[in-house]
Amino acid sequence: MAKTKTNNWFLKLKNTLLYSGYEVILTSVPQNGGTGKRGTRHRAAKGYIVPDELKIFINRRIGINDRVITLVHELMHEIYPNWQEPRVERESKKVFRGLTVPQLGFFQFFVMTKGEIQSALKRQQIHSPLC
Ligand SMILES: [Zn+2]
Repeated sequence: MAKTKTNNWFLKLKNTLLYSGYEVILTSVPQNGGTGKRGTRHRAAKGYIVPDELKIFINRRIGINDRVITLVHELMHEIYPNWQEPRVERESKKVFRGLTVPQLGFFQFFVMTKGEIQSALKRQQIHSPLC
C-alpha cells in the first residue's frame, strides 16, 4: 500500500517535471534571501523555485541525493502551492525514501551535471533513463 502511494507520487512529480515547462538549473551560486519575485520560494541554500520564470534552481555543490530531495521538494511546492514548508519537507523526504532505484535514477538524471552523468555511467552507479 505504501508502495502504491509512492508510485502515485512518482508519477505526479515526473509529469510535473516533464510537462509543466519547468527548467531545472544547476547552480553553484545559490541566492540567499528573497529576490523579491512573487512566488519565489527558498529552501535555505539547497534550491528554490521561481514559478514566474518556470525555473527550479538547485545547488550543484550539495550531494546528488540531496539535490534529488531538493528537486522533489520544489516540485511539491508547484503541485501543492498551499502546503506549508514543514509539510513539503516531511513529504519530500518520505517520497525520496520510497523511490525505487530506477525512479531515483530518473530524478538523478535531472540534477547531475554532464560530467557527473558520464562518470557515473562508466561506473554504472546510476540507471540511465534512456535505456
Ligand atoms: Zn520549500
